[in-house]
Amino acid sequence: MSDTSRLLVRRIKDGTVIDHIEAGKALLVLRALSITGKEGNVITVALNVPSSKHGKKDIIKVENRFLETSETNKLALIAPRSTINIIRDYKLLEKRKIQMPHSIVGIFKCPNLKCITNSGEEIRSLIDVIDTEKVVLKCRYCARTLSTDELVF
Ligand SMILES: [Zn+2]
Repeated sequence: MSDTSRLLVRRIKDGTVIDHIEAGKALLVLRALSITGKEGNVITVALNVPSSKHGKKDIIKVENRFLETSETNKLALIAPRSTINIIRDYKLLEKRKIQMPHSIVGIFKCPNLKCITNSGEEIRSLIDVIDTEKVVLKCRYCARTLSTDELVF
């Protein structure tokens, strides 16, 4: 790890550091986690940080909030290689990999325009992951099978 990224990752007392986000995906990650900044806690977003592993990466630090596994697993389709570091009192309490969840609620829109989730009613999308290895997705409402390329934010 370069000195720059070490500095960015280290200076947090309590909270969550999402590291090794694919460069350019940090803003999508914030959106998937419903982090807007209105929460009031300090959030640092670093884009295009030099990384020895992947060339460039994004990093997000969310202070004073400990993201749950159910939250961070929402990133499985956006930033599957990212690592979640839970920090307490400057110490790394937990290092977590992202796992593919069995269903994804409310992050993506179903690409089927006739789907009830696109009807303008207040229905959150619900997409089941029917094959976690090959990443085969299916809308629970219209039963359409989806690939990751078809997902719309
Ligand atoms: Zn649908």
